[in-house]
Amino acid sequence: MKVVIDRERCMMSGECCYNHPWLFSFGEDDFPEVLVSELATEQQRKEARQSIQVCPSGAISVIE
Ligand code: SF4
Repeated sequence: MKVVIDRERCMMSGECCYNHPWLFSFGEDDFPEVLVSELATEQQRKEARQSIQVCPSGAISVIE
């Protein structure tokens, strides 16, 4: 299971990076990057799902 960001939808508001800095960080192009390639624990999966809730543009998804 992993997190992906739809750059077409991202409005660079930063909620993902501020709320879950272990999972997201702003890259050099100012778009957020996903720092963890595979969500290994249930806690990580839980927080990843929470990041979907805080994204104002619906740009974050969790996929198998
Ligand atoms: S919270 Fe959503 S819109 Fe904001 S920077 Fe993260 S992915 Fe982009």
